[in-house]
Amino acid sequence: MSTKQPNRRSFLSVVSVVSALPGVGALLPASFAAPPDASQSRDIIAELGVRPIINAAGTYTALTASLMPPEVVAAIQVASRQYVRLNELHDAVGARIAERLQCEAALVSAGCASALSLAAAACVTGTDREKIRQIPDTHNLKNEVISQRAHRSGYAHAIRNAGVQIVEVETRQELERAINHRTAMMVFFNHAAPDGQIGLDEFVALGKKHNVPTLIDAAADVPPVENLFRFTKMGFDLVAFSGGKGLRGPQSAGLLLGRKDLIEAARMNNSPNSDALCRTNKVNKEELVGMLAALELFLDRDHEAVWKDWEARCSRIAAAVGQIRTVRTETFVPEIANAVPHLRVTWDETALGMTPAQVSEKMRAGEPSIEVRPGAREALEIGVWMLEPGEDEVVARRLREVLQQA
Ligand SMILES: *Cc1c(COP(=O)(O)O)cnc(C)c1O
Repeated sequence: MSTKQPNRRSFLSVVSVVSALPGVGALLPASFAAPPDASQSRDIIAELGVRPIINAAGTYTALTASLMPPEVVAAIQVASRQYVRLNELHDAVGARIAERLQCEAALVSAGCASALSLAAAACVTGTDREKIRQIPDTHNLKNEVISQRAHRSGYAHAIRNAGVQIVEVETRQELERAINHRTAMMVFFNHAAPDGQIGLDEFVALGKKHNVPTLIDAAADVPPVENLFRFTKMGFDLVAFSGGKGLRGPQSAGLLLGRKDLIEAARMNNSPNSDALCRTNKVNKEELVGMLAALELFLDRDHEAVWKDWEARCSRIAAAVGQIRTVRTETFVPEIANAVPHLRVTWDETALGMTPAQVSEKMRAGEPSIEVRPGAREALEIGVWMLEPGEDEVVARRLREVLQQA
């Protein structure tokens, strides 16, 4: 820093003199120019006429999930101005994350989905370079992954990418019978925990008993912050989280935590290695530092104060619509996945002449465009945790207008 900074400054002042000459600035490569002032940056979303939304839904991937805090964007901008050896940065970020999360090892992946692919690949190939080159062809390798039928999930596709098939079981006995010399891994989808017959502890114990690695997909299970520690401590060999949901890191980043040997195997199956399954899932330096910055910001924040703020947002919206005839409101916290305060709004549909789906559509079509939680049929559900400060007032006002028109 101390030796670099003056050089850079004098260089930049030369550039600014030269670029002030008529016609010269345009000839300089973009990377020679001083970093732009954010207030003068192009708003490409506006240029393209893509309509921004107020996110009163939550961390939905198709709604771009979360906004990175300014500290995270700042760390990314700093990283974006220098070259590094990518593997060295991967090592250093992984080591810091493992230290902060008190686990053996950690890896920043291209989203939780890629963490699932990498986990499966690691369990199939280990650190054997032949096998790493061979997959997704697994004809002579371990190629079965056991899961509970009640946990069936589209995200299992990310596991199947490694060339394995999912073997579904229901009971503990079925699970034990399904284990054989082709079993590569057992996977648990945390959001489905209440639906399956085999719970977290028993699942881990069965994996240990039969010496089969266990993976948990906990993509949307932060907060609570404790979950970042809980599943590795419980004995899962691998734990996967989304980086761009509750953690508010880059949307395309994720975390794979767990056993050192398996994380090493996952790394070998990952970009930047060319002849590897997840070369298609590159993680760049901006995502690496952004993920670490977001994680540290998350760990260090006042979780109780943030929770109270979410509750206050729910109360303000509730207060704005509570007087409208037949309207009832209730704050609820999903038991699992996105376990934060949400607001549920119900009303007598015949009295108001509008269904929740119709109200959602009006919120979407209005100005500003507001997205509420998708999928709720009996009620209108509002996720307040991804709103920017002050936006709860906008949501409250629009919802009151729409319900009053009804
Ligand atoms: C969102 C999600 C994923 C995928 O996470 P990305 O970070 O978007 O790749 C996987 N599993 C579950 C349960 C999820 O909710």
